[in-house]
Amino acid sequence: MRADVAARVAARSRSPGLAVVLVGDDPASTVYVRSKDRAARQAGIAARTIHLPAATSEAALLAEIRTLNEDPLVDGILVQLPLPQGLRTEAVLDAIDPAKDVDGLTPTNAGLLASGRKGLVPCTPKGIMRLLAETPLTGARAVVLGRSVLVGRPVAALLTAADATVTLAHSRTRDLVTLCRRAEVLVAAIGRPEMVGGDWIAPSATVIDVGINRTADGRLVGDVAYAEAAAVAGAITPVPGGVGPMTIACLLENTLEAAIARGA
Ligand code: NDP
Repeated sequence: MRADVAARVAARSRSPGLAVVLVGDDPASTVYVRSKDRAARQAGIAARTIHLPAATSEAALLAEIRTLNEDPLVDGILVQLPLPQGLRTEAVLDAIDPAKDVDGLTPTNAGLLASGRKGLVPCTPKGIMRLLAETPLTGARAVVLGRSVLVGRPVAALLTAADATVTLAHSRTRDLVTLCRRAEVLVAAIGRPEMVGGDWIAPSATVIDVGINRTADGRLVGDVAYAEAAAVAGAITPVPGGVGPMTIACLLENTLEAAIARGA
């Protein structure tokens, strides 16, 4: 995907522009922003990171976003989440021009997705659908664990649009294990290290592990206990190396698509 985006970027008269806004010094966010910036540059996208101090006021952040909205060389704007305390995520997302919303999180793009209409699709859910490209989805029983605006809800909408029969489960869902055991497609996005055991998985199921969790001993693990799940599943994504890199590839694709849609 990255090579494909790079080739399409190279064929254009102007490089698409991506502005990544990082507020504060959260270590995980800093790593993610660096990877996004590097991948964008490698694809020929004119990427820049705008690093603001943690003490930035909401008014100053909104002013920065307005400047980027009006900058003709910027096709995509991504505000790295979570924001430091005191900054309202919704107010910040509402300020982004939906045509430049390459993270697909503004109410306009979320609404288009929920309505089954075309818009900019959030990168992680878009990447998950790409990973499922060879999994038969029509009529399939799909279970999505987690109902966040960032992952669970948009994944459920996309799977529904792909004709799967979707159950969206969360922390109040009863008898998760039985529910998951019936799933032909299982997407885990709960942020609970290795909570989904091998005995939760149906034989031959396709398992997408979105979770990125740091254990007490410093290991990076998903929401799924990989080794035991892999012994049962038909296909499974690893952590790290699965959904994460695909999310970045989709960010590059969204930036190119935003540039094309803007006629830039
Ligand atoms: P959130 O914390 O926003 O949402 C978690 C969801 O999981 C909530 O809906 C919550 O339910 C549900 N949940 C929590 N605990 C349980 C439980 N014990 N049983 C059932 N459901 C539960 O997380 P995100 O969606 O933002 O992220 C989820 C994971 O994915 C995290 O590990 C995050 O780091 C990772 N992530 C990875 C990305 C990537 O690029 N690979 C991108 C984005 C996220 P309720 O709504 O009831 O509280």
